[in-house]
Amino acid sequence: MGLLEGKFAIVTGAASARGLGKATAKLFAEHGATVAILDLDLDAAKAAAADIGEQHIGLACNVTDKAACQAAVDELVAKWGRIDILVNNAGITQPLKSLQIEPGNYDAVMDVNLRGTLYMSQVCVPVMQAQKSGSVVNLSSVSAQRGGGIFGGPHYSAAKAGILGLTKAMAREFAPDQVRFNAICPGFIATDITGGKLTPEMKVMILEGIPMGRAGEASDVAGCALFLASDLSAYCTGTEVDVNGGSLIH
Ligand code: NAD
Repeated sequence: MGLLEGKFAIVTGAASARGLGKATAKLFAEHGATVAILDLDLDAAKAAAADIGEQHIGLACNVTDKAACQAAVDELVAKWGRIDILVNNAGITQPLKSLQIEPGNYDAVMDVNLRGTLYMSQVCVPVMQAQKSGSVVNLSSVSAQRGGGIFGGPHYSAAKAGILGLTKAMAREFAPDQVRFNAICPGFIATDITGGKLTPEMKVMILEGIPMGRAGEASDVAGCALFLASDLSAYCTGTEVDVNGGSLIH
């Protein structure tokens, strides 16, 4: 018996083949959930959904566009009748120093990570409130907690720290409706988010800072998302869970 039997879940940014979202969507499906993968490219979202099983759905949705978020959720509610789980996973990063951050860099990184998390939460919460149940899992980062030093620049740290504040404030606001909000703070996980910009020197430096001596796997984060999405974590809200191999012990 899966932990998410009969549940309906949305995972944003889950089309990336080696990404945290895809691994999470796959694990949720293995635990009985029906999953919608939302990502920028429709064909990629559909292919990722088909890859985890035929009942799953792939939709195009740019999370920085509120109307697109609303349209995707309306389509899913019309089909499923409910939404039990939202994983705000869509995110981008850039390896810039403070003085290199141009207005466009700031907008891109803040918008996808922080604005997107707010918009998707805003369109899912009314559905969850009406059900008197729901679990929202937001992807923050160890970069928010320790001030970067992994890959992303200060604007990324700020966006991910913003996600922690948003998670806690929304957890407080919607706890009376039994809608839970929790954040995951992954450390360094080997995915394609670094877009070929991770140099061997950067990798050595990052690995030296990880007591467990290895990069994380996407499945390490997916396991944590499964816990937070499922009723195993029924009394957890407003938490931040570290998945970082010991790279920040506090
Ligand atoms: P990834 O690049 O493999 O996947 C990110 C996905 O988000 C891609 O499929 C991309 O198309 C999608 N996306 C980008 N902009 C979007 C938008 N506007 N609307 C919808 N989808 C959009 O990245 P990943 O490593 O799997 O990262 C997933 C999440 O985990 C991100 O929020 C990231 O910041 C966070 N995170 C990753 C790491 C890591 O080490 N990989 C560490 C900490 C936090």
